[in-house]
Amino acid sequence: MPKLFGTFGVRGISNIELTPKLAFELSLALATYLHDGGVVAVGYDNRTSSEMLEQATVAGLLAGGCDCLRLGLVPTPVLSFAINHFQCDAGVMITASHNPPEYNGIKFWDSSGAGFQRTEERRIERIISGKKWRRAPWSQTGNARRADALTPYVRAVLKAVPKLKRELKVVVDCANAAGSVVTPSLLAMLGCKVVSLNCQLDGTFPGRPAEPSPQNLRMLAQTVLACGADLGIAHDGDADRTIIVDERGQVLTGDRVFALVALHHLRGRSRPRIVTTVATSSVLDDVAAKLGGEVVRTRVGEPEIIGYYGKRGGDIGGEENGGVIFFDWAPCRDGILTAAKLVEMLAASGMSMSQLDATLPRYYQVKQKVRCSDELKPRVLKALEKRFSRYKLDRTDGLRVGFDDGWLLIRPSGTEPIFRCFAEARDAKRVKELAAAGMRELRARVKAAGR
Ligand code: MG
Repeated sequence: MPKLFGTFGVRGISNIELTPKLAFELSLALATYLHDGGVVAVGYDNRTSSEMLEQATVAGLLAGGCDCLRLGLVPTPVLSFAINHFQCDAGVMITASHNPPEYNGIKFWDSSGAGFQRTEERRIERIISGKKWRRAPWSQTGNARRADALTPYVRAVLKAVPKLKRELKVVVDCANAAGSVVTPSLLAMLGCKVVSLNCQLDGTFPGRPAEPSPQNLRMLAQTVLACGADLGIAHDGDADRTIIVDERGQVLTGDRVFALVALHHLRGRSRPRIVTTVATSSVLDDVAAKLGGEVVRTRVGEPEIIGYYGKRGGDIGGEENGGVIFFDWAPCRDGILTAAKLVEMLAASGMSMSQLDATLPRYYQVKQKVRCSDELKPRVLKALEKRFSRYKLDRTDGLRVGFDDGWLLIRPSGTEPIFRCFAEARDAKRVKELAAAGMRELRARVKAAGR
């Protein structure tokens, strides 16, 4: 059987790869894994196939003897919050996050509100491949009831983030996706004047693709300028990530969103620990230095950050894609709380968004990729290690080569037949040199390995 779980749960094209039958089997396997029943929260995004998959998921859980708390249409961070709030034994989120609308996905969550770690996913895979699931006897099948998680979630955010010190005009772009049900109204309650863009729910995502990449945020940037807004806020499809557009229409990368929120959230803490990955900007090191804290870098991926936190602890986690994890809130990326913290920070600063961004050092980045078959990857990596052996090397995930004025990350993708090559430097010219050197070496080693 092929591996079911990818980087973020099970993903596939709805009704072709990800069918109601597979959703049923996955949730029956989850019920089997949980042993003696328990309560499982189930949420879904607004994709056209989500309700179909939710019904199948609920059926599988009930058949396995679990009770279900049906949360309905919610963003991913609300599902994580609800697991704690309602003291559930597990959670299931039906979403394909930033993928195109024909995709959908199923992701499992543990009782702490964290996504399943790889070892837990492997146990689910083993149950399915061996058809080792257990159906409950007729007298022990589960019950389902509906629950409202949005109201307690919003109440909790309003408790965590006080009303703004000055009114901000904010354009909110939710990609016609799940964030639409929370973020615009929440920001208005915090005291923002909200202009909503792509906030009518539509599972075909007609406004823009669900990935908040700079090229997909042109309409948001234009709207910020046209309205004279203080900033623009964009979520991905399930609102666990946030990207910012400043008042001049410039997109801030996810690294910088994370850095600003970390600076604000951790101020006043003694020696705070920021947990991030090897792919995130050095601007996090600058933030840690300002706070008198430290940065820990893990392998790439949210489960890696959560896994580190589970073993060693930390104060905030985040990635270069704009996902921020507030460990004292929930062990899950929360794009909605990120947005709330950012407007709080901006309002209190008295600065414009671009001025606030300029309080952190500027970095230049180049991100590229090279095709390479999976079987050649280890050999290529070894050859690169040898080539860069005189520099400072970090082998946490791929190869991170440290220079005095920047770094290079050459990393084999875990899901695609490619190597990624990231370069970062303080200087626009230097980053091009580093990127060119990285790509030259990478292409040469891939060619040599294929001979
Ligand atoms: Mg997402």
